[in-house]
Amino acid sequence: YNRQRLLVVANRLPVSAVRRGEDSWSLEISAGGLVSALLGVKEFEARWIGWAGVNVPDEVGQKALTKALAEKRCIPVFLDEEIVHQYYNGYCNNILWPLFHYLGLPQEDRLATTRSFQSQFAAYKKANQMFADVVSEHYEEGDVVWCHDYHLMFLPKCLKEYNSKMKVGWFLHTPFPSSEIHRTLPSRSELLRSVLAADLVGFHTYDYARHFVSACTRILGLEGTPEGVEDQGRLTRVAAFPIGIDSERFIRALEVPDVIQNMKELKERFAGRKVLLGVDRLDMIKGIPQKILAFEKFLEENASWRDKVVLLQIAVPTRTDVPEYQKLTSQVHEIAGRINGRFGTLTAVPIHHLDRSLDFYALCALYAVTDVALVTSLRDGMNLVSYEFVACQEAKKGVLILSEFAGAAQSLGAGAILVNPWNITEVAASIGQALNMSPDEREKRHRHNFHHVKTHTAQEWAETFVSELNDTVIEAQLRI
Ligand code: UDP
Repeated sequence: YNRQRLLVVANRLPVSAVRRGEDSWSLEISAGGLVSALLGVKEFEARWIGWAGVNVPDEVGQKALTKALAEKRCIPVFLDEEIVHQYYNGYCNNILWPLFHYLGLPQEDRLATTRSFQSQFAAYKKANQMFADVVSEHYEEGDVVWCHDYHLMFLPKCLKEYNSKMKVGWFLHTPFPSSEIHRTLPSRSELLRSVLAADLVGFHTYDYARHFVSACTRILGLEGTPEGVEDQGRLTRVAAFPIGIDSERFIRALEVPDVIQNMKELKERFAGRKVLLGVDRLDMIKGIPQKILAFEKFLEENASWRDKVVLLQIAVPTRTDVPEYQKLTSQVHEIAGRINGRFGTLTAVPIHHLDRSLDFYALCALYAVTDVALVTSLRDGMNLVSYEFVACQEAKKGVLILSEFAGAAQSLGAGAILVNPWNITEVAASIGQALNMSPDEREKRHRHNFHHVKTHTAQEWAETFVSELNDTVIEAQLRI
């Protein structure tokens, strides 16, 4: 029997490509959430369509890369440098990303780089059309096409124009903001309309879905129903599909000898001290300064804890060429340095701040030896770090302090201590609460979250979305 074909379209392919010669490439699969989710899905034959993250101006190179990628079931979209600059750095990362995380449209510094809003939006549409062209080249009747994220909001419309029978789903991995925020976007209506061309539109949480429906009713004047958005009898189904992780991959990692050895070393290194952990890309949405300031306040108010606790903050560099991100980096360094100067001793400092990423096994060992994880995102689509921490805590049963502005607060809220990251006093108090929590209560809270993380996996998420998309299309045909 033939499995249904699934075309997964995302800005980036799940590989990193390095050119080795005129016609040779070496490829490495990057195991993100989406990749492991779809590797686990056996019902569909998945293919990936996206940008390989490299500029390949020559035809020889393009042909060779296409061939190498085909072995990994990947199909490249070639974007030149100018398009990447305007579409990816410009419209996606300088306009949509901040807006969807409630940071607003460019003002002051950022405005200077956004003079060309119109040309960036034009590039965005052009890039989306290029993705659509590649999809249509490879599309076969019956295929399901699943578009991902804010980079490709224009894609559903392009695809339906090419073939109105195509089954098209779109999923947003970031928050969708209140309609009052979306209203400020100059291209607000055009983007909503193109997303609505999809058969199924998915978000991480019910709130994001509701915000999207409100934006469509208020800005476009369409009708919102419990099922989705209606436009002249045609329904676009809108629903929440909270993503998960491949929890077994994390649980298995804790049995690898190297990881066990690494855990032992970490335990010895921090013997006698409780370990607090933060793992974030160094992005404004993660609330890293707020987190460190709350830790300072905790030390200030709890002198007896000063030599008994350490905060390990892994801050993965991201968009390092953007001035705002450079400013955030030095701001975080300054605060951490000041606090270490204030509370450090000759032999120990309270904050270990690392500007780097860790590999998967090192990260698992760190999650497993942590007493308290601190997730203080100001806005976050879901936040997988909180899920990964829970998956690695079956032995320790540590505490998760979690921002109420992360999508994960909807699913892990019952087991975590929920905080408003803007309220430094509250976060400081919750650090005390976590460190003093009784083993019984820790066990009870962990049980709740661990059960959730184990049962709501990435694989289940992908299966649910695609089967809902198939059902939606069948129902729509019945209605006609
Ligand atoms: N991560 C990683 N190496 C690191 C730190 C983090 O691979 O050194 C991964 C982490 O395991 C998680 C992802 O980066 O899967 C971060 O996802 P999350 O949803 O928390 O935030 P995002 O970065 O997508 O905003």
